[in-house]
Amino acid sequence: MKSTLNIGGIPAFELAQQFGTPLYVYDQALIAQAQEEWKNALSMHPNHRLCYAVKANGSLKLLHYLAQAGLHFDIVSGGELARLVKVGVGGERVVFSGVGKSIAEIEMALSIGVSCFNIESVAEMDRLSDIGKAHGCKVPVAVRVNPEIDAKTHPYISTGLTENKFGLTINHLREQAARLADDPWLNWLGLDCHIGSNMHDPAPYGLAAKTLFDLLDEFTAKGIALHHLDFGGGIGVRYRPEDSRPLLKPFLQPILERAKNYPHLTIMFEPGRRLVAEAGFLLTQVEMIKTTPSHRFVVVDASMTELLRPALYQAFHEIVPAWQADESLPSEPCEVVGPVCESADFLGKQRTLAVQAGDGVAIKTAGAYGMVMASNYNARPRPAEVWIENGKPRLIRERENYDQLFRDEHF
Ligand SMILES: *Cc1c(COP(=O)(O)O)cnc(C)c1O
Repeated sequence: MKSTLNIGGIPAFELAQQFGTPLYVYDQALIAQAQEEWKNALSMHPNHRLCYAVKANGSLKLLHYLAQAGLHFDIVSGGELARLVKVGVGGERVVFSGVGKSIAEIEMALSIGVSCFNIESVAEMDRLSDIGKAHGCKVPVAVRVNPEIDAKTHPYISTGLTENKFGLTINHLREQAARLADDPWLNWLGLDCHIGSNMHDPAPYGLAAKTLFDLLDEFTAKGIALHHLDFGGGIGVRYRPEDSRPLLKPFLQPILERAKNYPHLTIMFEPGRRLVAEAGFLLTQVEMIKTTPSHRFVVVDASMTELLRPALYQAFHEIVPAWQADESLPSEPCEVVGPVCESADFLGKQRTLAVQAGDGVAIKTAGAYGMVMASNYNARPRPAEVWIENGKPRLIRERENYDQLFRDEHF
């Protein structure tokens, strides 16, 4: 077998032989690079915080690495908080987002000293205030603003519209401002927003940021002093080779310019995808080629249970040969599919690949929203994960075995 792809300097076939397939592989150097890009982009406003969105990829090794690198974290569940605690992250480095935080999750987060709860509704405001009262402490909060940015002008965004379940609309927030500021059990620290994911157009992002700054000015004029603005995540990456890679600068520059007038303001960002997507690869072996009168199916040993994004929202991931027995094979149009019994189980449609059974392919840009969405559907054990640092691969998650599939069941 000849490897046609190296990851972190290691031939893909060596990784497959040593660890088996399907296999998630992360290249630490690429994560470091993404992080450096953020650091450089934000250097002109030292008072910033980068809160990695744990939901994009919660592998302990990754969290530990990012914690060592000094990042903060954005979570959406008690389980994500437990993961952070496991790798030694203190609550002061955590913000808690999400529309349905349970009482148990809030109490757990309070006991660990989470730095801020991003409030999504008036009902949640009441819940947090009640819990603060019961525990005799002021709960640190920010309010998520739904800026109601018109989808017609900006089709990429999907969580910042009136019909979405996230955040408070601007007018709703205005109605609640006095109550929030006066609530004895809430410590109102800031405003946040997150208007959508994988954004390539900086315009709506800039509009949302402007909304937050304008509201900050408005509340300051009313004597309400806020400590931070959190602009959420959502900056996209390149999935299709023909697309251009969004630059951070057009997204961040307008915010940094305006932030110059607020030297004491902490500005926060919650990138998920833009920190880890590009560092991840899913290696999978071709089981067989199936030809029908209309199609050539490349059946691989990965499926929607390893990478759900194509089945879930027809996401595109570039698929490239990773190792081949015969490099002279002709490229042919094909569909790349997995073994799961669902028509939605595809990894790539209308591709062109020169592969045969036993060859391997790599599904690229799989570091975010990949392993975290892996499931045991069709009783498939979840894949192993490998981390490459300085040219050395290390297993960071064992491949699940059959015993683990049913070890928690009773009959
Ligand atoms: C999902 C999410 C993020 C991260 O989004 P990316 O598109 O991966 O950057 C950040 N903040 C909140 C509140 C989210 O729900």
